[in-house]
Amino acid sequence: ASVKELVITRGTQYRGKIFLSSPEDGVDLTYDAYLLAVRRLEKALLALGMRKGERVALLMANGLNYAVTFTGVMASGGVVVPINPHLKPAEVTRLLGDAGTSLVLTDDGWYRVFYPLLKVLPVRRLDLGLPGGRLLALEMASGSKGDDRAVEASPLGRNDLALLLYTSGTTGKPKGVMLTHGNLLAEARYIQDGHRLTPEDTALCILPLYHINGEVVTLITPIFSGGRVVMPHKFRASRFWDWVRNYRVTWFSAVPTILSILLSHPLPDRSVLSSLRFARSASAPLPVAVLREFEARFAVPVIEAYGLSETASQITTNPLPPAVRKPGSVGLPVGNQVRVVNENGETVPAGVTGEVIVRGENVCRGYFHNEEATAASFKGGWFYTGDLGYLDADGYLFLTGRRKELINRGGEKFSPREIDEILYRLPEVELAAAVGVPDPLYGEDVVAFIQLRPGKSLAEDRVISFLRDYLADFKVPREVIFIRDFPRGPSGKIQRLKLVDLYLKKFQ
Ligand code: ATP
Repeated sequence: ASVKELVITRGTQYRGKIFLSSPEDGVDLTYDAYLLAVRRLEKALLALGMRKGERVALLMANGLNYAVTFTGVMASGGVVVPINPHLKPAEVTRLLGDAGTSLVLTDDGWYRVFYPLLKVLPVRRLDLGLPGGRLLALEMASGSKGDDRAVEASPLGRNDLALLLYTSGTTGKPKGVMLTHGNLLAEARYIQDGHRLTPEDTALCILPLYHINGEVVTLITPIFSGGRVVMPHKFRASRFWDWVRNYRVTWFSAVPTILSILLSHPLPDRSVLSSLRFARSASAPLPVAVLREFEARFAVPVIEAYGLSETASQITTNPLPPAVRKPGSVGLPVGNQVRVVNENGETVPAGVTGEVIVRGENVCRGYFHNEEATAASFKGGWFYTGDLGYLDADGYLFLTGRRKELINRGGEKFSPREIDEILYRLPEVELAAAVGVPDPLYGEDVVAFIQLRPGKSLAEDRVISFLRDYLADFKVPREVIFIRDFPRGPSGKIQRLKLVDLYLKKFQ
C-alpha cells in the first residue's frame, strides 16, 4: 500500500474519467493521463539519481505541475517537502537545511524568484516551467513526450516516509512532521468516510498544496475516492462562484477566514449553489456567527472539521445532514480514537475541559531530527495535540483553545477564542482576533484586532460595550485596534503571534 499504488490503480480503473481541471489553463486531465505524467516524472527523477527516502522540496504554486510532482516524487521513493513559496530566502534556506534536501523542484515564476538562492545552496534543482509558459506536467501527460523506459523505483510500503511537512509555526518554530504512505492513505479513507465522498464528487481546491488541509483533503483524498478536483492557482473571491458554477462543484475545503471573506462578496445566483453538497471548514476555529450567516446566506451546510499536520489533517468532523451538526463543535472522530485528559494524562468526564489526545493510523511518526519535541508530544502510544477542549455527552468534541495561546491576565487564564466568538457577532466585523500582550500590572492583558468589512465603520467604545455584555471584565480588551490586512499563515489562518509583534512594534 502506497500513494504510488493508489495512483496506478485509479489510472487503470478510471481510464477516460476526468481527474484534474485547471480553470486558468483551461485543461482537463483524465486519471490515465495523470498516471502517465506521474510515472514519467518518477522516471525522470530516477534518471537524475534519486534514491529512496531522499527529500525533495517543492517550491510551486497550486496547479497541474504541483499535482503531478506531489505524487510523482512519492512514486519515485522520494519524500515530498512542500515549501511555501511566499517565505523569505532565509526561511527557505533554514527549512531546506533542516530537511537535508538535495533536490528542489520549482516552476516558472518561482524558479526565477529563487534562482539566486538555489544557485548558492548545495542542492540540485529541476525547473518544471517550459518556455512560453507551457507546463511540463501537461507535456508528460500528453502521451507523446516523456521517459517511458522501464526503470522502476524500489518497492514502497505503508511504513515508508512520503511527506516531510513543516508546521506553519502558528505557535512557535516550524517542526518537520514525518508522514508515511500509510498515514496518507488512512487519512484519505477517514475523510472519504466522514464526508461520504464518491467518484461523482467534484472538489474545488482553493487551499495551498503546501499545507496539510490542501494536499491531503483536496488532492490525495479525491484520488482515493475517484472524484474530480478543480484546481485554480489560488483562492480568488471574485472568481469563486464562477468556478462552482462552471464545474458543478459539490464541495470545497476552506479555512474560516475564506468563509468570512465570501460573506463580504455579492451573493451568487441560487442556481449556482445547487450542485454544492457542503462547505468544509477546518484549520482554525470557525466562529459560530460565521457558520450561521454562511448557512443562512448560501443555504449550504457548513461542515466543521478538526485536525493537525501531525495527524495528516482530519481527526474529527461534523457529520453531514440529516445527522446532527453542532455549531461550535468540531464533530465526532472518524477513524481516530480521541480522549480528553488532565495534566496527569487521566481521562476526564464528559463536559470537563482538558488536553485532546489522539491515536490512529493517520498519526505521524514524530518530528524530523527533533527527539525532544517528539518525546514531549508522544506518550504511551497517544499523540498530545496541545489543543484544549471537552467532549459532550454525545461524544462531540468542542475545542476551547490552544495550550500555547492561553492568555494569562494576573492569574486568570482564558482562551482568546472566547473573545473572538463575540467579536464575530458584530455584523461590521470581517476578521477578528484577541491576543495577550505584555502588561506591567497583570503580566498580560487583552488587545483585540479587527478587520472591518468593506465600507463599514465601527467605534472602539461600541466594541468594548458590546463585549461587556457577554464577557467578564478581566476578559474585555483594554484596546481595540482596527487594521486593514490581517497577518495570515499559509493556509489563511490568522497568526496571533504576528499580531502581538505588530502591537509591540507599532503601538507601544
Ligand atoms: P504550529 O504547530 O507550528 O504552531 P499550526 O498549528 O498552524 O503550526 P497546523 O498543523 O496547520 O499547524 O494546525 C493545527 C492546529 O490548528 C490544531 O492544533 C488546532 O489548534 C487548529 N485547528 C485545526 N482545526 C481547527 C478547528 N476546526 N477549530 C479550532 N482549531 C482548529
